[in-house]
Amino acid sequence: MEAPHPTPFRLGAQWRTGGAGDPVITSIDPADGSVAGTVVRATPADVDQAVSLAWDAFRRQPWRKLRPDQRAATLYEIGRRLLAEREPLARLQMRDSGKPWKECLHMVDSAAGHFRYYAAVCETWQNELTSPRGEYFSMALAEPFGVIAAITPWNSPIMNEAQKAAPALAAGNAVLLKPSEETPQLALELARICTEAGLPEGLLIVLPGHGEDVGAALVGHPGVRMVSFTGGTETGRAIGAVAGRRLIPAGLELGGKSPHIVFEDADLDRAVAGVMSGIFGSAGQSCVAGSRLFVQKSVYARVMDALVARTRELRVGLPHDPATQMGPLVSRAHRDKVAGYVDIARGEGGKVLVGGAMPADPALARGWFYLPTIIDGLDNRARACQEEIFGPVLVALPFDDEDDVVAQANDTAFGLAAGMWTADYARAWRVAREIEAGSVWINTYKQSHIATPFGGFKDSGLGREKGLHGLRLYSQVKSVYWGLHQQPMGL
Ligand code: NAD
Repeated sequence: MEAPHPTPFRLGAQWRTGGAGDPVITSIDPADGSVAGTVVRATPADVDQAVSLAWDAFRRQPWRKLRPDQRAATLYEIGRRLLAEREPLARLQMRDSGKPWKECLHMVDSAAGHFRYYAAVCETWQNELTSPRGEYFSMALAEPFGVIAAITPWNSPIMNEAQKAAPALAAGNAVLLKPSEETPQLALELARICTEAGLPEGLLIVLPGHGEDVGAALVGHPGVRMVSFTGGTETGRAIGAVAGRRLIPAGLELGGKSPHIVFEDADLDRAVAGVMSGIFGSAGQSCVAGSRLFVQKSVYARVMDALVARTRELRVGLPHDPATQMGPLVSRAHRDKVAGYVDIARGEGGKVLVGGAMPADPALARGWFYLPTIIDGLDNRARACQEEIFGPVLVALPFDDEDDVVAQANDTAFGLAAGMWTADYARAWRVAREIEAGSVWINTYKQSHIATPFGGFKDSGLGREKGLHGLRLYSQVKSVYWGLHQQPMGL
């Protein structure tokens, strides 16, 4: 049987269809190792062309000069079309990333929600008028940068892309989007839907390519005026260094090793359920995964017994099976990395309480599955407690009191998120203020609101996405003074 032609990408009015022998990116279905699709692979030369097409579109198209409510109409329409194609997009997502069906639907809903939210922001955005201090008035206007680059990881395809494209377009920019080479297909669908919804050509160009060539070419390109990156901390550091030399702003959403705290006065049943969804949701492939569990000593044994028993019952399965609670990891290499970290933890003296292996179910043998794993007996300074594993691996540590847990929770290079379970509201407030993290959850975990800013402290990033902060990230401020003098100005 002849292999299907790789999905092309669009450079302005032209399609890059790729010829025989041209490089492609092959997306592998993590559930069974089959080919989920191939796409034509962009090159650094395509970056050059895309940058000039995007500038051309930015300058010639009325987009940036439209009234914000007119831009909003297109953004609403993109959101509507995403929902109209909810199921086919979720199916493609499931093959591309291996996420369970319900999560894939959620990714599409969230992508649509971002376009609708930023349409509403366009409708309601107000510039600032300063009160006059003389015969003039002054105002601060939000202006687009021009052409910006958005670079995304593989763990939440279409949602991550929408989280960047929607506010960047709302602010009037042209966007060059490079999705992860692991999951390149959804971004191309997003670009198609944007065009069909009436977004002028050249304002969103997707370049499916690898990080070291296409990603690096985007960040270093003199025509790119701002970079928005989500991914690993080391990649973010390298991108930040280039952006620093070029004096362009970089929004960096990076890794995490988030503490999840259970105090002795918590509703322990709810806490255990929260801890499990915090680490095993998305098979732990979540930047905000609650991967370091701290349990107060007096309830440590009770909590661990309940956690281990419920983790044993967790249903690891194929993504399309409605009973599946945890699907595969994104690739064989990533599964091996996660398994390697469990070996490191064993070597550091950790005790594997549950999991720590591939599942025995023959139906899962062709995919990149790993059992939900809980390890204790480690010191907080152990590598398994300090490095981001990005898989279904929870390390558990006991603590004495509030001061002890705050010190241990903050003893990390990361600062993305944290969670706690307690019945004491005064303590919840104190600890929430002491924890060094961009998001803190009290008696809940991984809740996410589109209008609530999101981002990291410390090595977890710079800048905030979502909410009004999301629009500000993609805007630069211009102050305009308007003179009303009746007399000529004196010296
Ligand atoms: P990664 O850093 O390996 O890759 C992310 C993206 O950067 C990919 O598109 C990749 O091709 C590109 N890239 C790689 N090298 C580059 C370079 N030199 N220049 C430009 N681009 C380059 O990350 P990943 O493995 O795809 O994703 C997992 C990581 O993402 C985890 O660390 C996770 O915590 C993080 N993440 C963070 C958030 C957040 O909002 N803070 C959200 C999701 C994922």
